[in-house]
Amino acid sequence: MSSTLTQGAYIVAGLLFILALAGLSRHESARRGNRFGIAGMVVALTATVLAATAGTGGSGWLGLLLIVVAMGIGAAIGLDRARKVEMTGMPELIAMLHSFVGLAAVLVGWNSSYEITAYPTIHDVEVFVGVFIGAVTFTGSIVAFLKLSARIPSKPLMLPFRNWLNVGALVLFVVLTVVYAAVPEHAVFVRHLLLGFVTLLALALGWHLVASIGGGDMPVVVSMLNSYSGWAAAAAGFLLGNDLLIITGALVGSSGAYLSYIMCRAMNRSFISVIAGGFGVEGGTVAAGDVDYGEHREVTAEGAASLLTSARSVVITPGYGMATAQAQHAVAELTKRLRTSGVAVRFGIHPVAGRLPGHMNVLLAEAKVPYDIVLEMDEVNDDLAETDVVLVIGANDTVNPAAAEDPTSPIAGMPVLRVWEAKDVIVFKRSMATGYAGVQNPLFFRENTQMLFGDAKARVEDIIAAL
Ligand code: NDP
Repeated sequence: MSSTLTQGAYIVAGLLFILALAGLSRHESARRGNRFGIAGMVVALTATVLAATAGTGGSGWLGLLLIVVAMGIGAAIGLDRARKVEMTGMPELIAMLHSFVGLAAVLVGWNSSYEITAYPTIHDVEVFVGVFIGAVTFTGSIVAFLKLSARIPSKPLMLPFRNWLNVGALVLFVVLTVVYAAVPEHAVFVRHLLLGFVTLLALALGWHLVASIGGGDMPVVVSMLNSYSGWAAAAAGFLLGNDLLIITGALVGSSGAYLSYIMCRAMNRSFISVIAGGFGVEGGTVAAGDVDYGEHREVTAEGAASLLTSARSVVITPGYGMATAQAQHAVAELTKRLRTSGVAVRFGIHPVAGRLPGHMNVLLAEAKVPYDIVLEMDEVNDDLAETDVVLVIGANDTVNPAAAEDPTSPIAGMPVLRVWEAKDVIVFKRSMATGYAGVQNPLFFRENTQMLFGDAKARVEDIIAAL
């Protein structure tokens, strides 16, 4: 394949990726966006594989065979994982996939360090930057995977001078990059030593960076690593001289950065304070579990059903529990029933509900809930005071009044769905346990709140039966 043809194919693929992102930004066009993405990937892979194997004579066929075998093995593992993964396991799967991008960038960087190029200084800097971002992404994503899958506790690791450790590592990286670029090419041992050291430094930094962020800040970590994986891919693109990888990496990197910004805004946190870590365990906060909030009230499915039949307006605020219970289809069915009998039903989606950006939207779309009744937190919050019944289905932190009313709460300042302003609130959960941030929820003890204990799917089905 000629290089002009390859470049042409890369431009087409790049455009398809941009169309994919544009499509994915709205529910209605998400499927189309996905198709553009798939088409772009097919064009990109075909062009890259043909370009890599063309013009190398007989060995080209061997190369092609090796690539096809490797891709076949990768595709088989990928398809198997994608088929088996539960919706609740998605966040950790994505964290794991980010770690692969990081590892790939490290390997490409090391491999490229052996190359002789016309611009050695620029190339040296590219190698260092590629390996550094790749290694930070690699270990950072592994810690995120461990935290999201509850293999290690999600609470932040609080090393003394932790911010100085991060800043120190960054400064050291810059110094080492300058030294590496200054060391002559033939001093192979010293160069390897420097590259080895910076790899270890970045691995440690990635680990520490994510280990010291925890609790409620995890949504930002997920989107931040998404962004890093993009920059790692872009760095690998520079090293491999592959324009498409640079474009794709930059698209992923910048959209991940924008997503991090949205997540930060959703939690009313600055990006720097998220990186500085320690959210949820600031000194001087009251351990919410120690406060006596009084008694809670319980309701049966029949009681909830009769409350719903006499309501004119209902808002459903789903959370992580709806995903674990896989209650979305039952919720969609309940919505349909209520709407047919004239009740106005809408959904209020908190930006960090669930364990993945857009988690609730994906579940509701899967259950074919009409998009026009699925509203963002800001679109629905002011209407909650005029709402008859709010159904809190497996949400906890995202509906916690302490965030709005108690300045000493570990999640103080995080915008939440003000469900307690509604006339009646029914909370679906299995126990009085706390949510992801580990903070008790005074909502459960409010006078207008009733708890409907049990698995969310089973309870929603009970309500449908009672209706
Ligand atoms: P929470 O994690 O705060 O609470 C979920 C609740 O669901 C729990 O209190 C649990 O209570 C209940 N639950 C679990 N399983 C079931 C079930 N089968 N049936 C009924 N209830 C169930 O959820 P939210 O969505 O409100 O908040 C999300 C939290 O996750 C936030 O703190 C956010 O910062 C964090 N996070 C979000 C990410 C994102 O990208 N969206 C990423 C990482 C973290 P019980 O055990 O009593 O049933």
